[in-house]
Amino acid sequence: MRILIWHRNDLRLHDNPLYANLIAKDRVIPVFVLNPELLQNTTHGFPRLGKFRLKFLHETLCDLSRSLSQHQLNLRIFVGEPGLVIPQLVRTLGIDEVRATREHTWEEVRDEREVARNIAPVPLRLFEDRTLIPPERLPFAIGHLPDLFTEFRKKVEGYSRINMLLPDMPEVQPLEDADNTGFSSIPDDYLADGAALDSRAAFCFKGGETEALRRLDQYFFREHHVATYKETRNGLVGADYSTRFSPWLANGSLSPRKIYHELRRYEKQYGSSQNTYWVFFELLWRDYFRFVAIKYGNRIFKPGGIKNTDPFCPGNAPAFERWRSGNTGNDFVDANMRELLLTGWMSNRGRQNVASYLVKDMKICWLDGAAWFESQLIDYDVCSNYVNWMYVAGVGNDPRENRYFNTRRQAEMYDPEGTYRRIWLG
Ligand code: FAD
Repeated sequence: MRILIWHRNDLRLHDNPLYANLIAKDRVIPVFVLNPELLQNTTHGFPRLGKFRLKFLHETLCDLSRSLSQHQLNLRIFVGEPGLVIPQLVRTLGIDEVRATREHTWEEVRDEREVARNIAPVPLRLFEDRTLIPPERLPFAIGHLPDLFTEFRKKVEGYSRINMLLPDMPEVQPLEDADNTGFSSIPDDYLADGAALDSRAAFCFKGGETEALRRLDQYFFREHHVATYKETRNGLVGADYSTRFSPWLANGSLSPRKIYHELRRYEKQYGSSQNTYWVFFELLWRDYFRFVAIKYGNRIFKPGGIKNTDPFCPGNAPAFERWRSGNTGNDFVDANMRELLLTGWMSNRGRQNVASYLVKDMKICWLDGAAWFESQLIDYDVCSNYVNWMYVAGVGNDPRENRYFNTRRQAEMYDPEGTYRRIWLG
C-alpha cells in the first residue's frame, strides 16, 4: 500500500500507532503541515504560535526528520491548509491510505473532516493516541464523564487498563516523489530565527523525542527526582522540582504510555511511594482535561465555560498589557509572568496564581489570559490550557465555588525567602 502519514501532535517514532503496524511492502511518506492560520496574530496583536513554541516545534521536526532518515524516510514539511495539502499529495502520489492521530477540538476536527472529504474515496484512518487511557477504554460513555476529577479518578483507577507499548516501526519502502505539490516548505530561516534563552532559565528545553527520552531517563533512573516528586512539585526554582515532561507530551514527541511503563519499571526496581504514584495521578489530570474537552466541545472556548454561565468578562487592554509583560506591581505575579515572557515556561504553581490574579483581581476575561498562554507556553496543549483556565476562572470543573488564590499568601508559602522573585525581578 502507498501510505501517507500525516503527522500532527504525534511527533515521535517510539510507541506510535501510525507506524507500528506497517508492513515491509508498504511505501510510506511522512508529512507535516503547518497551517498558516497559526502564524497569524491574535486580535491582541501577538502571534498565536509564539517564538518559543516555534523554536521548540522546529527542533522537534528536525529530530523527527533525522530519526526517519535512519529508516530511509524523508519527512516533508509544508505550510498550507491540511485540507488542501494532503489531498493534493494523495492525488499526485496515488496514495491508498492516509493515517493520522485523532484530535478532539474544533480546528483540529475541522481539518480532519476537510481532509477526509477531499481525499474520498481514499480513507483517512484516525488513531486515538493522545491520552494514557484511550477514550474507548473508559468504564463509561464520554457523555457520562463525571464533572469532578476525584469521581473520575476513582472510576478509572484499577478499571481502565493501560495499553502496552507498541512495537518499533518495521523497515518500509520510501515514497519519494513529492516535490511538485505546489505548496511551499517552511523556510528554514523563518523557523531557525529562534528565541534566545534568557540566562536565568533553569532548564534548557530542546524539542524532539531524543531529548524527551533523555529527560525521562534522567528524571527517573539517573537522578531519581521522581522519588521526591510529590514533595517538590509545587516548586518554582531550579530544573527538577517537577518532571518537565509537558512540552514533549504536548506535541507528542513523548508518549504518555512510555512514561507510565517507565514509572512501573522504576517502582519495580526501587519501590513505589506516594511520590511515584503522584506522577501517574497528574497524568490522569491531563487525560481528564482532554475528556472534558471531548464531552463539552466548543464550550471550553466560551466565556461561560462548561458551566454555561454568563460571566462579566470585559477586556481591558492596558491592564492586560501590564499582566502580559509582568508589570502589574504584584511581585509574585510579575516574576512568573516575566519567566513566561522570557522563556516560554512557567511552573504549575505560577500558572494558577497568575491566572487567578488576572481573572479575580484584575477582572479581565480568562480567554485573554488563555490566548497569551497559547502564544507563549512551549507546552501549550489546547485541552490542558483551556480547561485549566476554565477551572481557575470558576467556569470549569472546580468543585469549590469562588476559589481564590491570595497571591501574597502564596508567595509567602512557596517563595518564603523571595529567591524566585529576585531571580526574575532583579
Ligand atoms: P508535572 O508536575 O511533572 O506533571 C507531570 C505531567 O502531568 C505534566 O507534564 C502534565 O502532562 C500533567 N499535568 C500536571 N498537572 C496538570 C494539569 N493541571 N493539567 C493537565 N495536565 C497536568 N499543561 C500543559 O501541558 N499545557 C498547557 O497548555 C497548560 N496550560 C495551563 C494553564 C493553566 C492556567 C494552568 C493552571 C495549568 C496549565 N497546565 C498546562 C497544567 C500544568 O501547569 C502543566 O502541565 C505543568 O506545569 C507542566 O509541568 P511538568 O511537566 O513539570 O508537570
